[in-house]
Formats: sequence, C-alpha cells, structure tokens
Amino acid sequence: MQEDLLMKTTLNGKILELKKTLNGKVILPGEPSYDELRKIWNAMIDKRPSAIVRCADADDVQQAIRFAHKNGQEISVRGAGHNIAGNSICDDGIMIDLSAMKNIRVSAADKRAYVEPGSTLGDFDRAVQAHGLATPVGINSTTGIAGLTLGGGFGWLTRMYGLTIDNLVSADVITAEGKKLTANESKQSGLFWAIRGGGGNFGVVTRFEFKLHPVGPQVLAGLIVYPFNQARQVLEQYREFVKAIPPELNVWIVIRHAPPLPFLPEWAHGKKIIALPVFYAGDSDKGQKLIEPLSRFGDALGDQIGPVPYIQWQQAFDALLTPGARNYWKSHNLTELRDGLLDAMVEYGNKLPSPQCEIFMGLLAGVSNDVKVDATAYSPRDARFVMNVHGRWDDPAQDETCIGWARTFFKATASYASMGAYVNFMTEDESGRVESAYGPNYARLREVKKQYDPENFFHLNQNIKP
Ligand SMILES: Cc1cc2nc3c(=O)[nH]c(=O)nc-3n(C[C@H](O)[C@H](O)[C@H](O)COP(=O)(O)OP(=O)(O)OC[C@H]3O[C@@H](n4cnc5c(N)ncnc54)[C@H](O)[C@@H]3O)c2cc1C
Repeated sequence: MQEDLLMKTTLNGKILELKKTLNGKVILPGEPSYDELRKIWNAMIDKRPSAIVRCADADDVQQAIRFAHKNGQEISVRGAGHNIAGNSICDDGIMIDLSAMKNIRVSAADKRAYVEPGSTLGDFDRAVQAHGLATPVGINSTTGIAGLTLGGGFGWLTRMYGLTIDNLVSADVITAEGKKLTANESKQSGLFWAIRGGGGNFGVVTRFEFKLHPVGPQVLAGLIVYPFNQARQVLEQYREFVKAIPPELNVWIVIRHAPPLPFLPEWAHGKKIIALPVFYAGDSDKGQKLIEPLSRFGDALGDQIGPVPYIQWQQAFDALLTPGARNYWKSHNLTELRDGLLDAMVEYGNKLPSPQCEIFMGLLAGVSNDVKVDATAYSPRDARFVMNVHGRWDDPAQDETCIGWARTFFKATASYASMGAYVNFMTEDESGRVESAYGPNYARLREVKKQYDPENFFHLNQNIKP
C-alpha cells in the first residue's frame, strides 16, 4: 500500500516536471476541467486516467509519448472521443488528448488540406468548404477526423470519391520511440499503407494531408419517411433502385422511431418509421429526376428534399447523435441485400427496444470497390453496404435489453454478411473480431506493427498484436 503511494507520488512529481516542458497543459484528477475532459461520446465508458496531457503541438505529443514510454505508463490517444469502444481513454495511464490541436490549412490551388488531429469533421468541412472543396468524411459533424480516417472513413461522398483513406496523401506520425516520421507513398510506405485502416496501432498522427474535390456549396439532400408497416416494400424497392444509380447519388436506410420532424404529421412523431436519407452532389434538376422514384416506394408520411448547403447536410444528424447517451453497436458489411436480411431488418426493426435505437444502413457502392484489397490496410473493398445496429438509450437499467437486442439481431443476420468488418464500428467486446476484420491484410499489418511498435505500446485500439 505504502509502495503504491510512493510510486504515485514519484510519478506525480515526474508529471509535474513534464508539465514544465510542454506548450500545452497537464490536467490531473481533482482539477476543475478533469471530469469534463475525461468524458467521451459513449456514456457506457467511464475511466479515470492518472493524467490528461492536452497537447498544443507535435512536440508536446512527442514529449508525452517519450515520458509514458520511459516511465512504463499506459497511454490512450484521443481525437474527438467518438470511438464506440472507448479506446481514447484509460484507467490510471496517460491520456494524450489531441482535441486542442485544430489547425487546418487549405491550399485551394492544389486542392489539399493539412489537418491537425484534434479537428472534428465540422471543423474540417467548414475550412474546406470555404473554398468550395470537400473530401469524404462521416455524417456526424462532432466526430473526430483522426479516429475516423485511421479506421477508413466513409460518408455521403464515398460513392464518388472513395473512403477518407483513399484521399489521404500523407501523414506525420510519431512512433512509440518518439521519432517523428512523414509517411506517404514514397516515404515510410509500409507505415502509410498500415495507417490507412489500421487505426492507432502504429503511432500518433499529428498532421494529415488530404486530397480535396469541388463539392457544393449547395447539394440536393433530405429525407423521405415511410411508416414502418411499409418497411418490407420500401427495402425491396431500395435494393433494386440503388443497383442503377450514379455515384453522385447516395441513399441510406434508417429504421427508428420518428423524431419530431416538422414535415411529419404530429401523430407520427415517436412512431416506428423507415427513412431514406438522400444526398445528391450534382446538378439539382438532374438530381430531382433521379430521386423521383423514391417517393413511389409506398405512401410516404412526409418528405423534405431540396437544395441545402453541404455543410448543413453534414450536420443534419447531429441532433440524434449527441454525446452522453449509452451506446452499443454491432455492424456487418454486405455485398448484397438478400431476402432473409430484409426479413430480419423488419423483424428487429419492429422490436426496437428504446426510442433512440436504430438500424442504419449506409451505401458504399462506388469507387471504393475498385481499390485493390491489398492497396491499403482496410480490406473489405467488396462491401457495397455497411449495416450498423445502433443500440442507444439513456437509462443503465436498459443495458441488458438494448445490448441483447443488438447482439441477437447481429447474430440473426451474420449469414448475410460479407468479408471483414469496419473497425471504427467495433465495440469494446469485439477484440476477438480484429483479425477477421482485416482478413487477408492482417499478416502484413502484424509485420508493420513489429517494425514500428514491437512492444505494443499503442494497444488501446482495435489491437493488432505484433
Ligand atoms: C455519432 C457517430 C457517428 C459516426 N459516423 C461515422 C460515419 O459516418 N462514417 C465513419 O466512417 N465513421 C463514423 N463513426 C465512427 C468513427 O469513425 C469512429 O468512432 C472514430 O473512432 C471516431 O474518431 P475520434 O477521433 O472521434 O475518436 P477517438 O475516440 O478520439 O479516437 C479513436 C481511436 O483512434 C485512435 N486515434 C485517434 N486519434 C489518433 C491520432 N491522431 N493518431 C493515432 N491514433 C489516433 C486511437 O486509437 C483512439 O482510441 C461515427 C461515430 C459516431 C460516434
């Protein structure tokens, strides 16, 4: 007991020494901002690091890594804290908090963005849209660009421009030894291959360089909402419709209880629905014609589709995805939507165990399918859809019911799933799924891990064992 106390006191003394060398801050338990800074998006995760190093720049990240390494401290790395598994925070160790590193520089002339890892998708979209540019990122603006990119990254633009990693040109990485490296196709190319999907296993990225594309500023986007009793016919027609649409058009599926949307009749609020979020990044008139069949899938409860700023659409789901709820996810990749899968979506959609639980399906089909499986660490290149079973609720008393629903639905649909899994959607209890998530790329990932992090210093992630 006394030894423990002595060690803690010695470590605290060393942390105070570290503090003097940083441009950023060190926050210790008991300090006013400690509890706020250790909160992450998923309220199921409640951990208490022994120190939070709030880095101001890459030098701070280097110092924090060297300090933790030398003193045998476990570390976690936090971008915007959205990771469902809660890997960005640890008990007792050091949380390297990057959320204050938000500098973004855009070079409009050569369509490049240089992005620090504390930036959220909203920060990124705002900076690049100021020049009429964008690159595919996710659909919730408070998500971190760092975690999202390192796991793969997909969103409304993915059909046209691929995954976020397909637009990554280079990255500055600090390794477990504290070395600063730049990784791209010609320098540290093995590392560059690995960080495109391999998560935070290889080092801390302090700067991303992305390729950008002209997008918007207006896009055609919105929702069509059908009552849940029409779910089966909507799903069947969706399956046919998406086979022939151009990559500028993206349509997803959400099965949930209706939020109080102003374009829905009041009696429908809170009732089960199947909604089609629609996004078209092209000429509005052409888009209107293309999406016209969507409103004939059944008798819609309401729709609201029209020209909106791209940035606004990128925030459209924020209100449903606020931090602080309890969340448990399960996901499958899919190459096709077989009848049995549609049956199960209807069956489990009918049993949504809380007002916030949802079944959500994103359409990926497009240029990301043309990338070779071994071109990046992210391997499930054949995935045309990704289905996320999103358990979400507020009351801990509902944990068992909501987790149980997600797990049973996941099992019931496993036989329809295709290869691999999206590591960014994997929960804390899915560490056994990492190897199969990477499939044929896992062996090479282990080799790169052995080269850059043989001691597995970076292990709070979907871990690749060296
Ligand atoms: C509401 C919501 C919506 C989402 N929507 C989408 C979506 O549309 N598309 C999509 O692709 N994904 C989506 N995701 C998943 C998202 O990509 C992951 O949750 C991702 O991990 C979030 O990144 P973050 O930086 O916020 O996470 P954090 O929790 O901060 O970090 C996650 C992990 O990434 C690693 N990491 C973070 N920063 C660095 C760094 N700079 N260097 C090295 N390692 C690092 C660490 O291992 C860390 O544990 C969504 C998640 C949420 C919660």
